[in-house]
Amino acid sequence: MDYALVFTIIILVVAAWYAWRYYKLRRDLNEFARTIRQQPGQSSTDIKELEDVSSAIASLISTFTVQQLTLDSERARLATVLEQMTDGVLIADAQGLIQFANPAAGRLFQTPNPIHRSIAEVMRNHQLVEAWRRCQQTGQIQSESVEMPTRHQYLQLVVIPDQHASGSLLLVQDLTRLRRLETVRRDFVSNLSHELRTPIASLKALAETLQEGALDDPPAARQFIGQIQTEVDALNQMVNELLELSKIESGRFSLDLAPVAACDLLNSACQRMQLQAERAGLTMRVECADGLPEAPIDLQRLEQVLVNLIHNAVKFTRAGGEVVLLAEAEPGFVRFAVRDTGVGIPADEVSRIFERFYRVDKSRAGSGTGLGLSIAKHIVESHGGKIWAESVVGQGSTFYFTIPFATL
Ligand code: ADP
Repeated sequence: MDYALVFTIIILVVAAWYAWRYYKLRRDLNEFARTIRQQPGQSSTDIKELEDVSSAIASLISTFTVQQLTLDSERARLATVLEQMTDGVLIADAQGLIQFANPAAGRLFQTPNPIHRSIAEVMRNHQLVEAWRRCQQTGQIQSESVEMPTRHQYLQLVVIPDQHASGSLLLVQDLTRLRRLETVRRDFVSNLSHELRTPIASLKALAETLQEGALDDPPAARQFIGQIQTEVDALNQMVNELLELSKIESGRFSLDLAPVAACDLLNSACQRMQLQAERAGLTMRVECADGLPEAPIDLQRLEQVLVNLIHNAVKFTRAGGEVVLLAEAEPGFVRFAVRDTGVGIPADEVSRIFERFYRVDKSRAGSGTGLGLSIAKHIVESHGGKIWAESVVGQGSTFYFTIPFATL
């Protein structure tokens, strides 16, 4: 609904009504003065006085009308603001009975009509009710933040005493999203420190071993230096992936779209990873449906997604297994898939593997940073597509992603 339009219509109707009342009153007063003037025996001074009274009353009415109009317009504006606010606003009397509630308050407390109910009944939370009680007792502003586990909400309440009516004004803010973001940030920092600590500790140990005599034993020194290189490469990959992720998440990247056939994309990714698959003792092949459209995609980034998926498939499939790359047309989009016959992912973890740093089993050999899939998710979603996985432990996994024709 267009609230601005409704608001304007209300103001116009009220203004028209006042204008009409004002006009009618002036007309009646003039009529009355004319009648008096026409009656025999009326002195001109009396008539003059009557006319003065009439115009004073008319002027008073006019001032009153303007004030009333301003008041009504402000009241309507205030009502619109309260109606549209995402924060909840409640007014309670001294006994804690709610006298006013805006729609957001009803939504936040999941109570469609809170008016005439008690604060305890509406809020259903001991800490929030206590905050109101404290405010009533002390006459001081009180604030309280609580988590409502059953409703998956995190709310902040500010209770302001109303000195005149001895009731209180209650402001409620939904901090659920902010809180979730804060948790994600905290987890990210803690995961990052954890991920950095392991290779740094290894580097330190290797350097110390070299210093303590291994340098004099060339074959051992070569082996340690090789390990240092591996750790540095892992750190380098993590830093690059973090930079890529931060670039994508902050929106500081743009797609470089160019027309590419879906099969060419698969073949190119397959070629890049063929040697790695062979070294792991796996066979890899492409199954691409005929007649898939050629359309603009960011080739480099989508190839990066496929390479990531193939890299994982190779990493988590034992020698003798198979990796298949597929592409087929669906109504409105092309669906790509990377299927392996590897170790699989437990059902309760499939949805979590796209989170930053999430790894199914951190002790699994060959595990990486846990960032690859979250980068892939961002790239696919920036093309307007979706990415997901299906897996059976011990049998293998299939990673799918779609790219809509509109983007293609
Ligand atoms: P990583 O660098 O650890 O591979 P990803 O974000 O690419 O990071 O993957 C996250 C986790 O998802 C992996 O650590 C692994 O546990 C799981 N995973 C991804 N792909 C596969 C797969 N094809 N088979 C089994 N597990 C997989």
